[in-house]
Amino acid sequence: MTGNITFTMIKPDAVRKGTTGAILNDIIQAGFKIRAMKYVHLTQKQAEGFYAVHKERPFFGELVSFMISGPIVVAMLEKSNAVADFRTLIGATDPSKAEEGTIRRKYADSIAENAVHGSDSDENAHIECGFHFSQYEII
Ligand code: GDP
Repeated sequence: MTGNITFTMIKPDAVRKGTTGAILNDIIQAGFKIRAMKYVHLTQKQAEGFYAVHKERPFFGELVSFMISGPIVVAMLEKSNAVADFRTLIGATDPSKAEEGTIRRKYADSIAENAVHGSDSDENAHIECGFHFSQYEII
């Protein structure tokens, strides 16, 4: 059985470009309900903690620097089949390979600065929501 929760971040590139509202609109229009949301500027320690699974990858340092380069929006989303449907909505990691109409295709410029994050499994969705939200922040 698939879960109904996923976690997203609108990354610093998208916030800088002023596309936060457009991306949130696409997410809501696609049927996702916002269960929790906040506007934050991560510290280096927080970004390293969030992306700890990627710490052996060659781009880890670049990824952390990018994610702390400006504020982001973090949100917990609800929909049936949330993880897979949200990955479809955002498109491939590299926006030039993402399907037409997907969020990354529409708003992102590169594989590194790709506008949004989406959890890759139900287990990670719950870990990532727990990283950013306390129980009382979830509606
Ligand atoms: P995702 O699940 O589609 O976000 O992709 P991954 O889990 O493979 O990578 C996590 C994040 O690391 C991506 O969303 C990008 O922001 C970043 N990233 C992926 N590949 C590269 C790369 O080659 N260089 C850099 N600088 N960042 C990358």
